Amino acid sequence: INTSSTTSPILEDKLLDGLLSPVFDELSCMSRYRSSLYRKPSPFPLSPYLTKRLRTYEAYHKRCGPNTRRYRRAIKQLKSGRNIREMECKYVVWYPCNGLGNRMLTLASTFLYALLTNRVLLTYMTKESQNLFCEPFPGSSWLLPSDFPIQDTYNFHKDAPQSYVNMLRNKVIDNSVNVSADSLPAYIYLHLEQFRLRLENNIFCEDDQLTLAKFNWMILKSDSYFVPALFLMPSYEEELRRLFPVKESVFHHLGRYLFHPTNPVWGIISRYYEAYLAKADEKLGLQIRIFPEAPMSFEDMYDQILACSRKEKLLPEIGTTEPFINSTSNKTKVKAILITSLYPGYYEKLKSMYYVNPTATGEVVAMYQPSHEELQHTEAQNHNQKALAEMYLLSYCDNVVMSAWSTFGYVAHGLAGLKPWILLRPGWMQKKADPACVRSMSVEPCLHSPPNLDCKAKKDVDAATLVPYVRHCEDVSFGLKLF
Ligand code: GDP
Repeated sequence: INTSSTTSPILEDKLLDGLLSPVFDELSCMSRYRSSLYRKPSPFPLSPYLTKRLRTYEAYHKRCGPNTRRYRRAIKQLKSGRNIREMECKYVVWYPCNGLGNRMLTLASTFLYALLTNRVLLTYMTKESQNLFCEPFPGSSWLLPSDFPIQDTYNFHKDAPQSYVNMLRNKVIDNSVNVSADSLPAYIYLHLEQFRLRLENNIFCEDDQLTLAKFNWMILKSDSYFVPALFLMPSYEEELRRLFPVKESVFHHLGRYLFHPTNPVWGIISRYYEAYLAKADEKLGLQIRIFPEAPMSFEDMYDQILACSRKEKLLPEIGTTEPFINSTSNKTKVKAILITSLYPGYYEKLKSMYYVNPTATGEVVAMYQPSHEELQHTEAQNHNQKALAEMYLLSYCDNVVMSAWSTFGYVAHGLAGLKPWILLRPGWMQKKADPACVRSMSVEPCLHSPPNLDCKAKKDVDAATLVPYVRHCEDVSFGLKLF
């Protein structure tokens, strides 16, 4: 299909101004075309350069993806046990780690890394994360074929001998410019998991990226949104500036490009939206996440939500008189509050408050919570489908209040293009957070484990001091995010 001459303005709109490729069958993935109808238009204009790069990437992926001659040739190289120079196609294989929010953030980061380093992104989708997302690249697949020669995912961890950092440390490879690509092992493993809450050194430095670029095959495992680390590298600066003139739009655009819930998940989303949210005059999303490593009593969290709401005027205040006594209007404003949480208690208590009391403004509050799964079950596909559906439902709200540190919350407000209010985590030895919440200065997710190395000086440095558009996060004081 010739995209430029045949697309109508309506289709252009559905394709989000050219963010999405027109070469897909609409019925196979309804969310691709319908999801944006539930949201306000994106606040961030798309750079025509990003659109162009995405179309070029799609062509590259189709040329080199699974079931192509070039892919088979690359697999042959991988099986041969050593790297070779000047292969036409290079690959980065993404391995999953942690919950769905973490996975989506790392997939988006890995895709950006693939764009910057000219690699084809393949994903190892374990059973529980299959059938969540439609294929994002037309005429090909991003799924790693089942006969991929490296199967044992348990081998990939921080101490794996194939990891780049360990290979350097053990002098299996060295990162000087004159090392020949032919002399390197068949693939490199890049471990970017939080380790004592800091990303490995020797990865986001120029010398290291030059060495990594020599490998045709890279396996990458991460639980972190490592995009801010890419923005710290001078060699990517110009390209990133052209791709994302507005820095805080990175996840917003990449997320809306990559992630399209499959039809069964879209069924959950659209049924719920149409039944409960579509007719509300205003929608507020409230994501409540209690982390096992930072437990909080129900009452403390509930009080924090109310304190935040009072300060920021989020939930309607309770009134003293019934509004119908003074009002002649017969149109009542409906404010929908969409709660997502593993537990039902917050919903029950907030709903009861508005059941027995009027609001000061006369508006009525409709309280909803799609599910309460009680426990995280990342290993279960239907549990993940609900999690994905709820991230999307949150992203259709006019405003979002999220819990500190939650990648689930980051995905929701990032897709929406909203700056959320963040319910802060109480400090060490503190019972209550003060202030209860703050407004995020950016739409971007936070990288919880910043790289600490000043590459040139070879010493630790506060990465938030290096470039003006990377700063510390409101919820994770040592974390980094783009502004
Ligand atoms: P994070 O742990 O908050 O950073 O987010 P993740 O998405 O990585 O992991 C949390 C996982 O717990 C989710 O993916 C879900 O499986 C589950 N979960 C947490 N909160 C909710 C919720 O509000 N709704 C649903 N359906 N699942 C949730």
